[in-house]
Amino acid sequence: MQKLDTFDMVLFGGTGDLALRKLVPALYRRHVAGQMGAASRVLAVARTNLTREEYLAQIEATCRKHLAAEEFSDARWRAFAAQVDYVQVDATEARDFKKLCATLEGRDDATRVLFLSTAPSLFTLTCDNLAAAGVVTPKSRVVLEKPLGHDRASADLINRSVGAIFAEQQIYRIDHYLGKETVQNLIALRFGNTLFEPLWRRGRIRHVQITIAEQLGVEGRGQFYEHTGALRDMVQNHLLQLVCILAMEPPTSSDPDAVRDEKLKVLRALRPIVGRDVQNKTVRGQYRAGAVNGQPVPSYLDEAGVAADSTTETFVALKAEIDTWRWAGVPFYLRTGKRLQERLTEIVVTFEDVPHSIFEAAGSNGRTPNRLVIRLQPQESITLTILAKMPGETMRLKPVDLALDLAGTFKEQRLDAYERLLTDVVKGNLTLFMRRDELDAAWRWIDPVREGWAQHDERIKSYVAGSWGPAASSALISRDGFAWQDET
Ligand code: NAP
Repeated sequence: MQKLDTFDMVLFGGTGDLALRKLVPALYRRHVAGQMGAASRVLAVARTNLTREEYLAQIEATCRKHLAAEEFSDARWRAFAAQVDYVQVDATEARDFKKLCATLEGRDDATRVLFLSTAPSLFTLTCDNLAAAGVVTPKSRVVLEKPLGHDRASADLINRSVGAIFAEQQIYRIDHYLGKETVQNLIALRFGNTLFEPLWRRGRIRHVQITIAEQLGVEGRGQFYEHTGALRDMVQNHLLQLVCILAMEPPTSSDPDAVRDEKLKVLRALRPIVGRDVQNKTVRGQYRAGAVNGQPVPSYLDEAGVAADSTTETFVALKAEIDTWRWAGVPFYLRTGKRLQERLTEIVVTFEDVPHSIFEAAGSNGRTPNRLVIRLQPQESITLTILAKMPGETMRLKPVDLALDLAGTFKEQRLDAYERLLTDVVKGNLTLFMRRDELDAAWRWIDPVREGWAQHDERIKSYVAGSWGPAASSALISRDGFAWQDET
């Protein structure tokens, strides 16, 4: 694996959940893989007053917990930890940045990654303070974690203020779904083979479903979630990014802007869901008490930090339509929710039925359509369901899975999403990061849905925790004559 140029990874929010669970373990793995040269450093930054030793003890404990036993060894840990430091900085205090400046002195030639893993309300001030303290060098990049704003106007405000300090080419807006191997494999499948391209369009594809289902609830983050909800937390970013990868036209090259130009066109072609359309094309739900994996779980309204009369949605299903020659008339059904029956992220592309079946049915009506199922979680897999003859005297057909054996074929180490994205930032590869105009187009489509819910007093539908969401979600798709994959 190619060694990365010398870098300083400055992790704002270095004591936070994301840094401890994902970012530090990802950097440790890259260190073990030999990609992080001896001169590169990780500088964790947060408000809490900690010595370097105290911080190292904290990250060692969490890395032991989050890494597989065979990945961790004392010797490897000592080598990694020798390149980690901690700097106490309150991002709202300009004078604190002098400490950071001193720690980075003489290292302007190194690639400087300023990863803002803090609340977005701190982004503007952090960037201003970084610039005023002289921390921003020509080789600096800023990484912004979601959520980037809570609507189009607030996202624009963040983009403007960050854009006043950093050029667009220095800004990396992360959506970690794009860092997943399977999502990149979807790009390989579509644009590295001729097989799918003639089929990848209206007339050949009947409909597309994307599900991001979580079993977890709000995990003590009720206060944060109250102001977010599933539409902003999952649809605006992850689900729409997956729609873009599925629906974009072949880019002219793998150049980041060639890819992002095509994604942008998809976002701009999404038919607006305005006014009363929200009643026919969207469902919002909220979980009540139930059981997940046999364990009783409370209602959303009984979670800490949640208002007793909250109308925040923990579930969304919607029908998206893309107004282009390729996709006219092909619905994209999107759904996401907390406290659902399974933890699952799955894309299902359902092809057209055969026009006339000459075979005896083994299952339903003998017209089981072909399906391409791309699973991102819990295990990554790509499966094409085709009909094959069952052994025996008669021509009875049954769906059989043609599965890509990626794990068996490739012995190379798989990178988790954050490992991939962090190395891309150091390399300066923007392909898997959202451009400002993409973010703007996504909010432009999302905002009217929320406004429509408020305007038409669209009641929130409740669902039992541990189910697949409100009954209205099944009704949304069955009105068009289809069913969610788990219902087929
Ligand atoms: P968190 O656990 O609440 O951590 C927040 C971090 O910010 C802590 O390290 C905190 O440290 C630091 N911080 C707060 N105020 C600060 C200030 N004034 N100056 C400097 N540091 C400050 O949050 P998180 O879950 O890690 O999430 C971080 C960001 O990533 C959020 O925007 C979140 O929405 C996003 N995100 C998180 C996840 C996830 O899985 N957790 C996934 C996707 C996106 P001190 O208290 O010591 O200052």
